[in-house]
Amino acid sequence: MNIKTTMRFPTKNILSAIGFRSSVLTADSRKPIAALAFSCLFSTMLVMPSQVSAQTKMTPAKIDALKTELTKEIDKQQKFTQEMVDMVFSFGELGFQEVETSKYLTDILQKNGFVIEQGISGVPTAWTAKWGSGKPIIAVGSDIDCIPKASQKPGVSYHDPIIEGAPGHGEGHNSGQPLNITAVLALKKIMEREKIPGTIMLWPGVAEEQLGTKAYYVRDGYFKDVDACIFTHVANNMSVSYGDAGNNGMVSALFSFEGQASHAGAAPWRGKSALDAVELTNIAWNYHREHMETTQRSHYVIKDGGDQPNVVPSKASVWYYFRERTYPKIMQMYKDGIKIAEGAAQMTDTKMTYEVLGSAWPGHFNQPMAEAMYENIKAVGLPKWTEADQTLAKAAQKEMGNPEGATVESNGLATTLSPLAKPTATSSSGGGGSDDIADISWNLPTIVLRYPANIPGLPGHHWANAIAMATPIAHKGVTAGAKVEAMTLLDLFVKPEVIKNAKTYFTDVQTKDVKYTPIISKTDKPAIHLNEKIMQEFRPEMKKYYYDPAKYPTYLEQLGIKYPTLRDTKTEGTGK
Ligand SMILES: [Zn+2]
Repeated sequence: MNIKTTMRFPTKNILSAIGFRSSVLTADSRKPIAALAFSCLFSTMLVMPSQVSAQTKMTPAKIDALKTELTKEIDKQQKFTQEMVDMVFSFGELGFQEVETSKYLTDILQKNGFVIEQGISGVPTAWTAKWGSGKPIIAVGSDIDCIPKASQKPGVSYHDPIIEGAPGHGEGHNSGQPLNITAVLALKKIMEREKIPGTIMLWPGVAEEQLGTKAYYVRDGYFKDVDACIFTHVANNMSVSYGDAGNNGMVSALFSFEGQASHAGAAPWRGKSALDAVELTNIAWNYHREHMETTQRSHYVIKDGGDQPNVVPSKASVWYYFRERTYPKIMQMYKDGIKIAEGAAQMTDTKMTYEVLGSAWPGHFNQPMAEAMYENIKAVGLPKWTEADQTLAKAAQKEMGNPEGATVESNGLATTLSPLAKPTATSSSGGGGSDDIADISWNLPTIVLRYPANIPGLPGHHWANAIAMATPIAHKGVTAGAKVEAMTLLDLFVKPEVIKNAKTYFTDVQTKDVKYTPIISKTDKPAIHLNEKIMQEFRPEMKKYYYDPAKYPTYLEQLGIKYPTLRDTKTEGTGK
């Protein structure tokens, strides 16, 4: 037993990680030093003070004309947008393993004059792509990872995986970067012609499902000089919010136990079961739930429960997400989790170690930027859905046990815009999921554009959420979202008051009383080994289904799917 060495709960920052694999430590060393130095130098040159110019001021009529031009240009790019959405969908890569996705996206950006820095924060699939010069510097991001076991044929209203058991875009993270790229390339043309100063920095949310990277990007200084950030996330309406987003922040932590193996039949008394420690941890946590606030969410999966029943498990591990509404409450939950795991180790005479695998603050978004964006949302509106789009949406909703008219969210695709979402009071929030974009939002003015590329009323993190994601629903939603984003970026570049007001809100309202304290420590490293084995298992088979736009106009056509494909009307949906 070695409890003392695991008692590492600090006063402020968290608990540095223990026992990282050597692959974590060597991630950066794979990159040639010269290339690194060059890219660092180059990215510094992009924002050298000598190149910083005052923001351009334009007349409202001129801005309107440019916005009209942007929407026309983005409409012209619909084929290009559709190819990107379909391509990333077909890659279906899990967090930290977004190798094909990142290569594909950065190739497009590089060809279009962006300067790429690969492997940021020691994450091989993370990057920044910069274009332009001087201030302001606007960051544009979106997640790129997918969901385990969510493989699904697009355009099919019932469960029909492309590959059984394989990962798939069961959230829709295949659509955000195509949206960003469409928007910034349209804007870049105008900025070049009109000589609008400023720098655009694209970046990916790698391993968002593990809350795995954004706090590291912040800690490692990639957003240090950035003036504002627009993030995009798939949704089923076009919306933006400001203030407290009403969601939870969280810590993701792995507790590993080490005991002693023995013959479970012949000499069980010689064994010390690491699995017993995992089970006792979970039992204690589930008793502890009764005494926790209703805003908390906590869940776990047993990552290692031993090998076979006749060997007392010498190693076992359990992976927890601890979610709460505020930083102090998140840290309290984490502290309680550590204490319980230590108690389980004591009871079983095993040794416990723990490490942080991810983290996120609760979100808070910028009011002046959200208000500017909402004007553009009203101007663009929702896509025009066809009969086929609505038929697929309603069939998927019915399949998920949510038939038409049963709930507000079960009547097909959205046809009226969401209002500008107001802040949620901490006291009235019920808690919920998390997104590490929040760590960026507490360091610089940030908003999230939610765009209508998916079907309302689905379970989330599920194969059903992949149904729409390589169909005209996603394609049109991304095109509409790209227009809103491009118009809002233009506002940020040519209306100096928007960024000025955004900064005032950030300092005088958002961070007046609440100060950001990183959940990760200075020495924690991104858990880049996550999902390695799953992708190794499925990638060879998945490669056969990568989209080939040279041969097929759409991914639906490549897969031979009639749009929409519905369950035989004689058979009722079972929602399997
Ligand atoms: Zn997401």
